[in-house]
Amino acid sequence: FLQGRTALVTGSTSGIGLAIAHALAAAGARVAINGLGTPEQIASAIAEVDAAGSGGSKHFGADLRDPAAIETMMTELAAWSGGGIDILVNNAGIQHAVPLHEMPVAKWNDIIAINLSSAFHTMRAAMPAMAARGYGRVVNVASVHGLVASKDKAPYVASKFGIVGLSKVAALEYAAQGSRDSGGITVNCICPGWVETPLIEPQIEARMAGGSRDDGVRALLAEKQPSLRMTLPAEIGALAVFLCRREAHNITGAAIPVDGGWTAQ
Ligand code: NAD
Repeated sequence: FLQGRTALVTGSTSGIGLAIAHALAAAGARVAINGLGTPEQIASAIAEVDAAGSGGSKHFGADLRDPAAIETMMTELAAWSGGGIDILVNNAGIQHAVPLHEMPVAKWNDIIAINLSSAFHTMRAAMPAMAARGYGRVVNVASVHGLVASKDKAPYVASKFGIVGLSKVAALEYAAQGSRDSGGITVNCICPGWVETPLIEPQIEARMAGGSRDDGVRALLAEKQPSLRMTLPAEIGALAVFLCRREAHNITGAAIPVDGGWTAQ
């Protein structure tokens, strides 16, 4: 049902972004990949996404800390997609967990730039063309940390609360565009708890206490995630695909937890 649609997934050379790119391609979309990585990692992401679906995926290498690079990427994407992308997934994100007074200023700046400001830059470029076509989907990968806080994550929590707010504003501004038939324009956040990706490895290692990696995973889950199960990246991909369906036209401005009950407590 996403045949003929084009999508950009930021930070899709790894983890959740790669799984979302895979899932969108499997549903028929042509997917633009973005993210850092070795040439081998980038080639393998393109091959995986092409094999999953409609082919023709392409890597756009913009460093999301650089607004000018994002603007250039969005201009190139308008040409690649033939007038503007239909689906925008702002997923790229980084983490650095230390107490507030030990947080390097450079980390604060990078986390805010990648996790929050990059979504503003991509949305302002992509959304007018979505409105003109009457169909558009913005799926922002926030976090439970867009809904509740944890210590040692000042810039990360600030960036994730920020992207939840940014998404609600955009949802309101575009709510009346399009129709049930065209699918409308929606803007939502997915708010995962712990998902098994490279991003959380340092936090697993910090809890191994001389034991195995499994011990570290168990300790991490026990702190916050009542299901005591990790989410798999493909499960986030499945939700992103659902949000792109026409039936999801009235799901907008939502921040949807996928957190095993973390934020129910
Ligand atoms: P990951 O480290 O596997 O992937 C991060 C992606 O972002 C990579 O493709 C990386 O190349 C890209 N990236 C990093 N810096 C970049 C930059 N300057 N320019 C362009 N791309 C850049 O992490 P992940 O766990 O898949 O995280 C994806 C998103 O999910 C993030 O926004 C993260 O905050 C969020 N999230 C993750 C979890 C979790 O438990 N893993 C939980 C909640 C939210």
